[in-house]
Amino acid sequence: MNIAENRQIAEIHHYIGGGIRRAGADRFNDVFNPATGEVAARVALGSAADVDAAVAAAKAAAPAWAETPPLRRARILFKFKELLDRHHDDLAALITREHGKVFSDAKGEVTRGIEVVEFACGIPNLLKTDFTDNIGGGIDNWNLRQPLGVVAGITPFNFPVMVPMWMFPVALACGNTFVLKPSERDPSPSLLMADLLKQAGLPDGVFNVVQGDKQAVDALLAHPDVQALSFVGSTPIAEYIYTEGTKHGKRVQALGGAKNHLVVMPDADLDQAVDALIGAAYGSAGERCMAISVAVAVGDVADKLVPRLAERAKALKIRNGMEADAEMGPLVTGAHKAKVEGYIAKGVEEGATLVTDGRGHQVDGHANGFFVGGTLFDHVKPDMTIYKEEIFGPVLSVVRVHDFAQAVSLINAHEFGNGVSCYTSDGGIARAFARQIQVGMVGINVPIPVPMAWHSFGGWKRSLFGDHHAYGEEGVRFYTRYKSVMQRWPDSIAKGAEFTMPVAK
Ligand code: NAD
Repeated sequence: MNIAENRQIAEIHHYIGGGIRRAGADRFNDVFNPATGEVAARVALGSAADVDAAVAAAKAAAPAWAETPPLRRARILFKFKELLDRHHDDLAALITREHGKVFSDAKGEVTRGIEVVEFACGIPNLLKTDFTDNIGGGIDNWNLRQPLGVVAGITPFNFPVMVPMWMFPVALACGNTFVLKPSERDPSPSLLMADLLKQAGLPDGVFNVVQGDKQAVDALLAHPDVQALSFVGSTPIAEYIYTEGTKHGKRVQALGGAKNHLVVMPDADLDQAVDALIGAAYGSAGERCMAISVAVAVGDVADKLVPRLAERAKALKIRNGMEADAEMGPLVTGAHKAKVEGYIAKGVEEGATLVTDGRGHQVDGHANGFFVGGTLFDHVKPDMTIYKEEIFGPVLSVVRVHDFAQAVSLINAHEFGNGVSCYTSDGGIARAFARQIQVGMVGINVPIPVPMAWHSFGGWKRSLFGDHHAYGEEGVRFYTRYKSVMQRWPDSIAKGAEFTMPVAK
């Protein structure tokens, strides 16, 4: 874009040390309104110097924040939660403007983020640890969970509020300071969250935002003062972050991509299964890491299922996400729309049956919006590209299998293992499915099993690199270092050096 011609376009900058830092950057990224295809703003792409400034601010704020009693930290988060409630619609509108998802769904995203803040308000209780009285003569032993220092989060475009909130409320409640590197495709909500944290009383420097792309990420990966990195995004980048971050001695949790299956058993309630598939495949235009992109039809269920799915996919209300009755909005960018349409062409080329084709979908008054209609493939085979790869668009593939065992082996053989679901009325099948399936989050007659804030979120296999799931108690473990303390007082110390291994006497 020619900058000189577009001086009126808003610029989005960093948030460092408690205020906006206008980057001296020469690199910017266009941020689109996906419903209209227009450039809505330009975001600065941070340099290593911007990352240095943010980490320095976080490092300077770290000692005082770590010393702040957990209850006082939690009270700031309580206040933040109150402000989030008040600004719920503002955050949701920013999401819809830059991401494209429908407003009601954006509000749901904000709610799921707020739930993590609510959880974080109770973290003082989780920082309490064990104590053993009198492990030896006059010696007591207990543990501490201490903050790591400066930690960073790198987040994807598809949940610009919720995914950062999987990270920073937990990190801050545990006494860390934070640098967020949001997606360069929908950066505005990060600044509103920073402002609300400040209004809530968070000291300057405790939470910082560096806008940017790979350059900022690489600077965070290499920065010696960043102790830990939380990442959520696509699998190739998650693997890169994990490898590079751990190579630099950091603690890393890197959540990656997905290909989530929903098994429909012959005894399933078909109305419920159809509703579940339509919502989970086409909600947020399929741009969810927990979206269902494969329906596994067991036995003869596909013959009844496919016509009903086709009818519903064609009837989806696809609109500008701000319209009240919209069920599905556009994709995030024109480039992503082209990629998704390319996958549809590939599916046809590889021999899948295209039942409903969303390419070329037009929305009245939005000729340049990045819309793709609900797309349905039948007779998809495991060796096809549209089965193997994550499309991240409104494309549902039906794979037909003979029986339950074949459904389980199909899913277990896939490289991703984020979410999965099984629709059945049989308790034995449900139990076997939950136990045998090699996937991190399992739904039984629940299409999108995103765990609540106190249960922790994470996939298996190439959907997660690292040892900890996100938020919940796993998050508290990730953002704290465990320390064991042994103590005795001079009046209980026997005289003389000891040269043997100390044992309880
Ligand atoms: P992405 O991997 O392209 O980007 C994620 C982040 O990494 C962004 O902040 C981006 O700026 C940065 N990044 C991109 N390329 C980079 C590079 N080469 N080097 C360093 N950093 C880089 O992902 P996206 O398109 O923003 O988000 C969609 C993906 O995220 C999907 O694969 C989806 O499944 C995944 N996702 C996973 C989860 C989960 O919990 N497992 C949740 C949400 C999204």
